[in-house]
Amino acid sequence: MRTYEEASKEALPEGTFSNSSQWEVWSAKNCDRCVHDEPGRQGDAANGCPLILIALEGRRPAEWLTQTEQQEVHADYTCTEFRDENDSDPEPHPVPTPDGQGELVPREPYEGHRVLTPLNWQDRGGRDFAASIESGLTEDFDAFERRVTAADTTRRP
Ligand code: SF4
Repeated sequence: MRTYEEASKEALPEGTFSNSSQWEVWSAKNCDRCVHDEPGRQGDAANGCPLILIALEGRRPAEWLTQTEQQEVHADYTCTEFRDENDSDPEPHPVPTPDGQGELVPREPYEGHRVLTPLNWQDRGGRDFAASIESGLTEDFDAFERRVTAADTTRRP
């Protein structure tokens, strides 16, 4: 579990629950039985879950994911840090590398949370393409996208 400072750096600048009832329902299903907010439930708010604090500040922790539009609309997040307080060993452990199998690259630098966004017409590529067509350039979107991607090495595929 990351510290408040670490999690705060990657939190998204967007609100989470639209009202207190929505939060109450979600937290009852998650935080109220999660080992990370156990101190908070016992009156030690300073050592409660830092992700809750981030949400209270009006931002969305990167650990709160959704897979469908329906989940997004209803703020039905899946918290990747949820650990049931009744588990005998709540910390997850990576599947060990089988005996005799070599590792090409170390796993540690690639562990963590990332928020990936799909590239679609509403994203920058689509808007730039529309502007390009309006200015008289004629090429199909795939060719345009390849050219922009080749010129912008900071962009994710
Ligand atoms: S880790 Fe997630 S589920 Fe657990 S208390 Fe924090 S926000 Fe709630």
